[in-house]
Amino acid sequence: MKRNLLLTPGPTQIPPKVGAVLGEPIIHHRTPQFQTILKEAVEGLKYIFQTQNDVYILTSSGTGAMEAAVCNLLSPGDKAICVEGGKFGERWTELCKAYGMKAEVVKVRWGQSVQPGPIQKILDTHKDIKAVFITLAETSTGVDTRVKAIGEVVKNSSAVLVVDAVSGLAATDLQTDNWNVDVVVSGSQKGLMLPPGLGFISVSKKAQGLIDQSTAPKYYFDLKKAKKAAASTDTPFTPAIGIICALNESIKMIKADGLERWLAHDIRLAKGVRAAAKAMGLKLLAEESALSNAVTAIRVPEGIDGEKLVKTMRDTHGITMAGGQGEELKGKIVRIAHMGCLDEYDMLTGIAVLEKVLKEMGYKFELGAGVAAAQKVFNS
Ligand code: PMP
Repeated sequence: MKRNLLLTPGPTQIPPKVGAVLGEPIIHHRTPQFQTILKEAVEGLKYIFQTQNDVYILTSSGTGAMEAAVCNLLSPGDKAICVEGGKFGERWTELCKAYGMKAEVVKVRWGQSVQPGPIQKILDTHKDIKAVFITLAETSTGVDTRVKAIGEVVKNSSAVLVVDAVSGLAATDLQTDNWNVDVVVSGSQKGLMLPPGLGFISVSKKAQGLIDQSTAPKYYFDLKKAKKAAASTDTPFTPAIGIICALNESIKMIKADGLERWLAHDIRLAKGVRAAAKAMGLKLLAEESALSNAVTAIRVPEGIDGEKLVKTMRDTHGITMAGGQGEELKGKIVRIAHMGCLDEYDMLTGIAVLEKVLKEMGYKFELGAGVAAAQKVFNS
């Protein structure tokens, strides 16, 4: 049987213990039994989000939680800053436009991390900005945003700071409360090692003020309904019961290690992969100061078909890495995730297969150099 190792930044590998819970018989959601599970899940998420704010569980992929943020915080005609440094930053702008809000776009070159300066400038000159939308781990480019510095700027304005942590949560540090983040959105199929199907959103008091005033159309993602239901440990609609039960198992795994150690593990894997790329003569897409701990984007060498590379690794060797997204990066990069339950041996396997296929495709380098460099990092 061919292995199927997912080294993609979502969906990620599901640990056997979590998978076992997913296989259990379903229970009904309007029961004291499920209430206990839901309460534990919300408390567990607060630990992962590093917040005392309210956290709601939605039944959707991560984009649903992003949409919930936009249509609950803002009203048509409202102005918001959207930072675009990749595919997912662009999604904030698209969502704002879909609901008739005005997006002040801060464009960042792909591979760079946004600086607080341009955001500060717009906030100073446009006092009516209601929200600043950024991306913690920009999965399309392998860039982490320095959220703390942005939080310092936004906290002094009347705007709320909204962070897309769909792939960053439980993969790279995000101190929601310490860093003055008002709203964090995320999803289940990345750092939390679950199937897709859950969206999460945390809401600060400042953000709740905007939610109470919002006149944008909404129904399924109405956070006032979510808040009302949460008051009696309930959800407004049928939740993804099985995935919420499994969520408690994955949070238990992270808690057993402690969040800090869990995140340090991802940094270690990221360092190993970066060292391997360098030893193979490959370039990273992201600038040194912007490198993500959640995912590394490696440039495919000149003359090599990146789409064929990803396809061969997957179809012939059972190793799934992500390719590039969008016109700019299609066929030009491979992306390797460091999140979830992946370990050093998964990284070494991925690097070995990357080396093998690159060699077969004619790239000139010393076979084994990448594996050796990663081993050195992992042995140190
Ligand atoms: N934001 C980021 C940073 C992501 O990585 C993703 C998923 N790749 C999304 C948003 C969208 O999430 P979903 O596909 O779960 O809707």
